Amino acid sequence: MHKPGGYCTKIEHRKNDAAITARKYQPMKQHTAFFRSILDSVPDYQPGKPPATVPGLQPYKLSSNEHFLEPIPAVQESLAKPVSPALYPDAAADALVQELVNYLQVPNDHIAIGAGGSELLTAIAQVTLEAGTEVVYPWPSFEMYPQISALNAADQKPIGLTADSRHDLPAIIEAITPRTRLVLLCSPNNPTGPSLLVTEFEEFMAQVPSEVLVVLDEAYWEFNTAPDAVDGLTALKNHENLVLVRTFSKAHGLAGLRVGYTVAQPEVTAAIGKAIIPFGVTQASQDAAVASLHHVDDVMERARAIATARDNFAHALRTQGWDVPEAQANFVWLALQDLSTVFEDACVEQSLAVRNLTDGVRISIGPAEAMDRMLKVTQQFRERHFPSNRF
Ligand SMILES: *Cc1c(COP(=O)(O)O)cnc(C)c1O
Repeated sequence: MHKPGGYCTKIEHRKNDAAITARKYQPMKQHTAFFRSILDSVPDYQPGKPPATVPGLQPYKLSSNEHFLEPIPAVQESLAKPVSPALYPDAAADALVQELVNYLQVPNDHIAIGAGGSELLTAIAQVTLEAGTEVVYPWPSFEMYPQISALNAADQKPIGLTADSRHDLPAIIEAITPRTRLVLLCSPNNPTGPSLLVTEFEEFMAQVPSEVLVVLDEAYWEFNTAPDAVDGLTALKNHENLVLVRTFSKAHGLAGLRVGYTVAQPEVTAAIGKAIIPFGVTQASQDAAVASLHHVDDVMERARAIATARDNFAHALRTQGWDVPEAQANFVWLALQDLSTVFEDACVEQSLAVRNLTDGVRISIGPAEAMDRMLKVTQQFRERHFPSNRF
């Protein structure tokens, strides 16, 4: 019988542990030999940093677009109920799918459940992209787009945003070739904030070949208050090559539980299902998502409150002289360019964590005290770096 080499006594174990620890500090020889050649071009995902500790100041993490409140009471009650850790979760997530069927008014074969929008985006890239294909996406946008594209060896066409930080849809159309399989759109766009208008979206879709799958990433749709923005569910009725990506991480405040879903035609949904990890969403997470949907009016009310806080914050920044793009999610974007790190450092000193991306800084909406403190930082920053002119 095959005997794995690991069996040994406790004492031998300890000796082995010490040997393993010692070995860890020697760099691997030929460490790339077994990796796919494409791996060197895959960027690491950089998560938002935690806030620095500053004596006397309550720290605030405004770097990951998380909900700053705990989930609604029904979700907390659901999480307090025991779920057997010995059992696999419902692989089909039937109860959650049924809840979404009622909520979205779409058939159940239109819905795939995954461990957050991240897993669903990863699955979509996996079932559409390979070497020799192209993917087009706006940039700056969600950091995962280049990552999932690179991992699947596709040629990437990041398309710069317009001067007002919106998707440049005509340029995205221009970039589509017969090799294009996937277009990723994000509305509202993370990290800049604007939503796609329904008119520009429909004009865009009319020009996209049906052989190209279009992702509409709606991770923040609940915060959108622009009346003329595209609504994915309505758009889905007219376009077979469209897939919506949504999540419980943002407006529902369940980022730690890892639940998201896609809405698409049954054929697209089935393909995504092949690339999803079986049992990837725990039962506790499924149950919590169901509880949150049961009280979705409360969730939406809290999303509107954040939208109001966002509008007030953006307005206050503009009053200080900042050029803030339209903000439709739970964050605001400052296109600080070279000054991004200087600005981040000023926030760190005040125990405020923000997201420093290459072209600017994204500030998530947090509690009132956090936003008030942030407005003092932005005011002082302006006085120091742009004493006279608008930015
Ligand atoms: C947060 C986010 C997601 C999904 O995040 P999950 O936590 O994996 O659900 C998807 N797209 C964008 C643009 C996001 O910001």
